[in-house]
Order: sequence, then C-alpha cells, then structure tokens
Amino acid sequence: MPDYEILKTMAEECGFTHSAPLAVSTLDFMQEVRDMCNARQCNKYNTSWSCPPACGSLQEMRELAAGCSSGILVQTVGEIEDSYDWEGIKDTEKRHKENFGRLLYSLERGLISVIAMGAGACKLCQSCTYPDAPCRFPDRMTVSMEACGLLVSKVCTDNGLAYNYGPGRIAFTSCFLLRDQIKARLNSQD
Ligand code: SF4
Repeated sequence: MPDYEILKTMAEECGFTHSAPLAVSTLDFMQEVRDMCNARQCNKYNTSWSCPPACGSLQEMRELAAGCSSGILVQTVGEIEDSYDWEGIKDTEKRHKENFGRLLYSLERGLISVIAMGAGACKLCQSCTYPDAPCRFPDRMTVSMEACGLLVSKVCTDNGLAYNYGPGRIAFTSCFLLRDQIKARLNSQD
C-alpha cells in the first residue's frame, strides 16, 4: 500500500505519534453523534463556521466522502499526570492542532487533495468571523470528526488504531480522506 506509507512518513515528520490507514467505507456519519454538538453540551456550538449548524449537513459530508476511498487516521498521544491535568491535556491538544496544520499544508503543497477532519472547532484564526462575515479561509477551514457525525472511538477501532492509551496518556485523533482523483496522481509517482 505505497500511498499509505508516503502518508505515514509525512504524518511522522509533522509530529503525529500514531497513524493507521483509514478505510473510508468504515465511516458512519451518525445523526446521534452530530446531535451531541448542541448548546447544552458544547460551548462552541453556533460560534464558528466549522461547527453546527453552519458546517454543513451530514448528507453533504457523506457526499464528500463518497469521492474518497482511502485516507489516514492520525493521533497525537501525550503524557498527563491524571485526568484532571488540564495543562497536559491542553498542551497535547495544541500539539495535535499544530501537527494537523503542518500535515494539511504538506499535503496541499504536494497537490494531494484531501478532506480534513480535525479535533474540535477550527482555530485557524484568533477569532472566528462567524456569523458576521464569511469564513476567511474556506479552503483551509476544518470541521471536527464529531461534527461530521463520526464516533471517533469507533473509527479508531474499525481501522485498527487504539483510542484509549490508559492512565497517564491522552490521545487526540483526526483524519484525512484522499480524494480519489488526486490519489491516482499520487500512485503514478511510484
Ligand atoms: S478559518 Fe477562521 S473564519 Fe474560517 S472557520 Fe476557521 S476560525 Fe472561523
């Protein structure tokens, strides 16, 4: 699977600690997961172009994913003292978002077109323009896996990647789906 090996190397170079090939056929865009994005459970709801209700319907996500047949799951696993170590959790989240941005940039620079699904709301700008002005970077804005209706633990399990690394460790997970048209171009480099 040479295209995955290329992606894996790129992910490692960008700082991700773990990765696995992603079979797009395993992705289940579930309304009950999307429903967890609501004002009672998440303070990001209705505050960003990358979050519900602005980020697009699950049907639109399904249609986008239908143009992809493979991808990569990526994780940043960090050490924490315990489950109340907010500083350690935030530090790992920050590193994950930096790794995510680096890999997205590397893929785009390599003309590899992807659908990127991140962890949490888009933080590309210090302050999101929502809802007063259009998104500043609609081509780079990323929607979280949860907002896409994906149960992250299930996606990991279905693709052979751990989700829980036990006490003292925290994992943040994201994924990149390769658009089929560009994947062919990547393979032609072999
Ligand atoms: S790119 Fe900027 S304006 Fe667009 S969703 Fe992200 S934070 Fe908001």
